[in-house]
Amino acid sequence: MHANKQRIYIAGHNGMVGSALIRQLQHLENIELVTCSHQQLDLTRQADVEDFFQQEAIDQVYRAAAKVGGIHANNTYPAEFIYANLMMECNIIHAAHQAGVQKLLFLGSSCIYPKLAEQPMREDALLTGTLESTNEPYAIAKIAGIKLCESYNRQYRRDYRSVMPTNLYGPYDNFHPENSHVIPAMMRRFHEAKCQSDKEVIVWGTGIPMREFLHVDDMAAASVYVMELDDVTYRQHTAPMLSHINVGSGVDCTIRELAESVARAVGFEGELVFDASKPDGTPRKLLDVSRLKNLGWQASVTLEKGLRDTYAWFLQNESLYR
Ligand code: GDP
Repeated sequence: MHANKQRIYIAGHNGMVGSALIRQLQHLENIELVTCSHQQLDLTRQADVEDFFQQEAIDQVYRAAAKVGGIHANNTYPAEFIYANLMMECNIIHAAHQAGVQKLLFLGSSCIYPKLAEQPMREDALLTGTLESTNEPYAIAKIAGIKLCESYNRQYRRDYRSVMPTNLYGPYDNFHPENSHVIPAMMRRFHEAKCQSDKEVIVWGTGIPMREFLHVDDMAAASVYVMELDDVTYRQHTAPMLSHINVGSGVDCTIRELAESVARAVGFEGELVFDASKPDGTPRKLLDVSRLKNLGWQASVTLEKGLRDTYAWFLQNESLYR
């Protein structure tokens, strides 16, 4: 091991965000990436996580490990979502602190903001209103993660930063028919409909809600950018008690428009049928990304291109999803 190399631990490196972070971090010099599979280390087990940090001499942590899912999964398994996410973030953040890790990046979600927050949602909308009920337990866990980071910064002068991405998509997403997020769910369903020459496909909800989407490669680039910012610049753009930064594309569309874009990317030419008995979730979820823009970062992958690339990846890896 090179003495000057920074040892960077990516928690959750097999997931969509974790694997994008690995692709992004590989370009940095003088670093050594540390990963550990779920089979080797269960991040919900406190003693195991503490042992791992004591043994590995980690310098920085990217915390991408999380139990995630779409509107149906969050609504159906709320206990698993709140339990697993709280346990993982408590264990990682506390064990990192105990082992003397000074820098950590916590990855959250835009669902931390109130259901009826003013749009686009600014960082200071946090804790100003009632959350969307379908994913409230997950959101509470993510809010606790932000507050854990802020508390260790306040009490121990740690440099634990948080980034709140909008809805993400891309390679290594979960393409489960029911439990996934909207883009992979539609992509798989539209693809199967195309292969079977179906005349129509079902889209959940009314198609009216609006969502913002960000390609996971943009998310990984923004995460590394925020982590690498020097302390003075970072603090200039974040209040001491408000340490999280939104990461989004700054553009949103209706679920109907999204469905039309996914159909184009997949080449499905049948009809879209909206099933209003399925939940719509929050009416709109657009992040205000001016803080990140002022720090010098902007998204670069358009939705059209991102969907095309993700579909190409899906086709190459389709056997994984049968
Ligand atoms: P959310 O942003 O937390 O609500 O998470 P999702 O990505 O699961 O859902 C976004 C929106 O897409 C909701 O309004 C859903 O009703 C709608 N939607 C339409 N079709 C689907 C689908 O097949 N799967 C999912 N997960 N959502 C869908």
